[in-house]
Amino acid sequence: MADDWKQKYLANLDHQERAEAQWQATETLLRQGLTRVALAAQGVDERLDRELDALRQAIRAGADIGRLEQIIEAIADAVVRLDERRSQQSATSPQALLAHWLDSLSLPRELRSRARALRRRLAEAGDLGQMEGPLRELAELLNTALQPTAGGGGLMKRLFGGQGGAKDHAGPADDETNPRAVAREGPQLGEFCIQLLDTLSLPAELTEQVEDLKEHLASGLVAHTAAPALHAIADLISTMRRQMEAENHELQDFLRQLTGRLQDLDEHLAGAQSQHRASIDSSRELDAAVQAQVRHIETSVDRAEDPQQLKAEIQQRLETILRHLDEHRESDEARQHQLEEQLKHLNQRVREMEKEGESLRQRLREKHELAVRDPLTGLYNRLAYDERITQEFARAKRYEQPLSLAVLDIDRFKRINDSYGHKAGDKALKIIANRVRSNLRETDFLARYGGEEFAIVMPETGLKDALVAVEKLRKDVSQSRFHYQGTGVDITVSVGLAEMREDDSPESLFQRADRALYTAKENGRDRTCAEQD
Ligand code: GH3
Ligand code: MG
Ligand code: MG
Repeated sequence: MADDWKQKYLANLDHQERAEAQWQATETLLRQGLTRVALAAQGVDERLDRELDALRQAIRAGADIGRLEQIIEAIADAVVRLDERRSQQSATSPQALLAHWLDSLSLPRELRSRARALRRRLAEAGDLGQMEGPLRELAELLNTALQPTAGGGGLMKRLFGGQGGAKDHAGPADDETNPRAVAREGPQLGEFCIQLLDTLSLPAELTEQVEDLKEHLASGLVAHTAAPALHAIADLISTMRRQMEAENHELQDFLRQLTGRLQDLDEHLAGAQSQHRASIDSSRELDAAVQAQVRHIETSVDRAEDPQQLKAEIQQRLETILRHLDEHRESDEARQHQLEEQLKHLNQRVREMEKEGESLRQRLREKHELAVRDPLTGLYNRLAYDERITQEFARAKRYEQPLSLAVLDIDRFKRINDSYGHKAGDKALKIIANRVRSNLRETDFLARYGGEEFAIVMPETGLKDALVAVEKLRKDVSQSRFHYQGTGVDITVSVGLAEMREDDSPESLFQRADRALYTAKENGRDRTCAEQD
């Protein structure tokens, strides 16, 4: 009996030892795997890098499971933040915003493949003009989703807030610890439509319509007005497209006219040339005729016997010459006259063309000015920023001058919209834009980069000087107080700063400034952070 127990005990021990050895091998393998994963994920994000570093060191030092667990939790946190940051960043184009929002909906199962197809079409929509179709499709999709039979009760709540009716904003709702929480869940439909309008950068001519629509949206969407609202946005895009087409036609018409005028000019010049040739020919003819008469006179003189007859003959020859001269003069005068007429005509045509060319140039200048301006703040827009940063970048490289870039973002701007309404938000944006502008040098370039984000290009400015300048304007903004309907509202901004490096591109420079901005936000907002090496 005792032997039996002993046998069992030994077998068990053996089994446990083997299991332990196997577990140890697995753990080593896991630790090695983690080290490799940590290495592979390096360089994506600064904060993540720090956590990964800690992880590798802990593994090397053979830290216990409790410590590892702690670090892995911190990594998971950093990854979540990175994800939020990414979706936040990518949501600056209307296509991305729409796709992001579409993803955040939990649509009934039978509509999901339609939503996927729509998402693909969105990704393919290269420019704004091509978004009209997808928007109308989205409107239809929502219409279907909101049919009572589609079982969209949950969706209804997600789209229109608690009561499934007008949106109910309970004031500033985002919690302190996770400012992106609302964005991650996806905004409600009305809010989403306003955001979409903000990113669309429609032409200035449509400002009034856009404002009306925003106001309408801000006053609340209910289920049956959702599709019409999306259609209204699609209509705006369609108007913009029609305007662009009309402009194209205008330009084409002008070019056609110009081509006609040039042909006209060409014909006139050809006419003038043939006149000139005819004039040369007729001079030659005259010359020949005169010479012939002179030769006749010479022979007559040689052969002359009777002075009377000679006189008569010479007289006759001279008359012939005079007649030829007269004829020539007359035809020359006629030609001259014709030529003058043609010249007058030509001059007039050229003047007309110059005038039309100038007015076209003026119109193009005006159009360009409109295309690069943000209608709300009057600042340059993203398009202008792209143009300018490319130029300044090339210049700074060529002359080996420093160049700094600041990205400025209004703090908790969503709250201002939520608490005081979109109109107040717009007013605040204008005021801040003016304040920032008045704090900058002539040579600095300020643009509204996106919704409540601004970019400042500072040529011939190193990081240190840029920091001083940016801090000055940041403090100025945070000390100012703007008034809305009798209430004082404090606004602060956060700024990220970076300086051009040898191997930079405009994009990588922006990325560093943007990352610094993120750090400024993380460190408590209302501050400037310069890039770290
Ligand atoms: P953070 O401090 O993290 O930047 O918080 P935030 O609330 O400013 O950031 P978030 O990006 O979540 O929100 C930006 C808001 O700015 C949402 C958007 O509706 C609003 N916005 C963007 N453009 C305009 C605009 O032209 N007018 C108004 N009124 N609001 C705008
Ligand atoms: Mg922002
Ligand atoms: Mg902001």
